[in-house]
Formats: sequence, structure tokens, C-alpha cells
Amino acid sequence: MGILEGKKLLVTGVLMDSSIAFHVAKIAQEEGAEVVLTSFGRTMKITQTIAKRLPSTPEVLELDVSDQGHLDSLAERLGQQVDRLDGVLHSIGFAPPGAFNFLEGTWEDVSTALHVSAYSLKSLAAAALPVMGHGGSIVGLTFDAQFAWPVYDWMGVAKAAFESTNRYLARDLGPKGIRCNLVSAGPIRTTAAKSIPGFEQFEQTWHDRAPLGWDIRDAVPAARACAALLSDWFPATTGEIVHVDGGVHAMGQ
Ligand code: NAD
Repeated sequence: MGILEGKKLLVTGVLMDSSIAFHVAKIAQEEGAEVVLTSFGRTMKITQTIAKRLPSTPEVLELDVSDQGHLDSLAERLGQQVDRLDGVLHSIGFAPPGAFNFLEGTWEDVSTALHVSAYSLKSLAAAALPVMGHGGSIVGLTFDAQFAWPVYDWMGVAKAAFESTNRYLARDLGPKGIRCNLVSAGPIRTTAAKSIPGFEQFEQTWHDRAPLGWDIRDAVPAARACAALLSDWFPATTGEIVHVDGGVHAMGQ
């Protein structure tokens, strides 16, 4: 029996088959879960095509996390697919190019990054809440926000807000029996990563510093950690950040 047998999961963020969320959806199905995907706008068609590469083709609901109408109708639309929801994967990140220049980034750039990449964890959780019950699990993906990195800039600030949002969600949803946790992944070559100018600098850092080594083409370790956190195997863990980074976070120079 798989660790997600009988679970009903909402998985956001499947864009390509390189997406971390694609691997979470694949592992989740292999482990016995029923999966519903989300996508939005022009990328809906791409997600629908990529979804066919999963073991079984899931439904794709439209969800732009900055669209209040999409959020307001999510629970009702989900209710047409599944009778309840056991877990949600937040695998969403976006910042305009200007946000990757710390001193020059405008509030317009920064506010978009914060809205889509940080506040959306709360928006998504609140939108899914009506169909989630005791034992539910919300999992998101971060990039270690303890440090100022080269090139990450306002996206790094958004990730710090995202990590804090996770802790406040854990506080407010704990009494409802819902856990909220993050996986802090090392660099993986996805569409979002390739849109960050100078992303190669992270790749070199991980090559030099990960005691376990690190493969920037392999999203499976991060995806497995997400699947584990979505399962019943972390029943007393919430507000946590699990590092899946080859050990880089624990090293000094
Ligand atoms: P990806 O490009 O495959 O996925 C990003 C997803 O965000 C896409 O599916 C995109 O459609 C979605 N998205 C963007 N704006 C949205 C909006 N307004 N509403 C709904 N969805 C929206 O890249 P990925 O690397 O798989 O990113 C997934 C998550 O993992 C992100 O939170 C990212 O910050 C995080 N992460 C990535 C890395 C890495 O190196 N790739 C490392 C650590 C954490």
C-alpha cells in the first residue's frame, strides 16, 4: 500500500515535466493518491498536455492565485471533482525581472513577487479550507531565506515572507487539525529557475558545498519530501521547513 493511498490532493504548479510539482503529482499517484491539478491563463493548455505524461491524467482547474474570483470559486469547483481534500501542494513562484535587482526593484515589481510568491500560500490555504478537514496537510516549496543570495534579491525577501506565512498558517490551522510545512529545496533547473538571471551561480555553490552532492536536474528528492509531508507520516509536524538541499544549509564555509 502506498503512503498516500486514498488521499485526495490538489497540486498547483505543474507547468512542464521539469516542474517540481510534476514529480510530486507523479509520486502521489504512484503512492495511491487521486490528484487534481491547477494552472492558469495561457499555460492551461501546456499543463493539460504535460498532465497526460502522468500515470493517470488528472483534471486541471484554472487558478491564478492573484485572481480573487478564481480563489473564491475554487472550493466549489473542487467539490465537482472530489468529495473532500486531504492535501494541497503550493508550488508557485513568480517575480518580474525587475525584482532580481535589489537596489533598483520598484514596489510594483516587489508587490507582484510578494503577492504571487508569498501571500498566495495564505490565499490558497483559505480557498481550499472549506473542503479540507482534520488530518489535512498543506505543503509549499521555498528556497532557504535565511541568507542574502547572489541574484535572488526580492524573490529572497518574498521567500522570507513565505516562510513566515507558513508559520502563521500553522498557528491558525493547527486547531483545525491541518498541518502546514515547507520543503526548502536546493537549485533545480525548472522554468522558474531559468527565468532568474544568474541562476548558474547557485548551481556552482551547491556543486562546491553540498556534502551529499546535488543534481540540479533531479527534482525527485524534493518531490519525495513533499509527498511524505502530504502523507500521514508527519502527524505532529507543522510550521516546519524540511531542507532537501544535499546538506548545504548546515554547512559553514
Ligand atoms: P516551475 O516554473 O515549473 O513552476 C512554477 C509554477 O508557478 C508554474 O507552474 C507557474 O504556472 C506557477 N505560477 C506562476 N504564477 C502563478 C499565478 N499567478 N497563479 C498560479 N500559478 C502561478 O518552477 P519550479 O522550480 O517547479 O517552482 C515551484 C516552486 O518551487 C516555486 O515556489 C519555487 O520558488 C520553488 N523552488 C524552486 C527551486 C528551483 O531551484 N527550481 C528551489 C527551491 C524552491
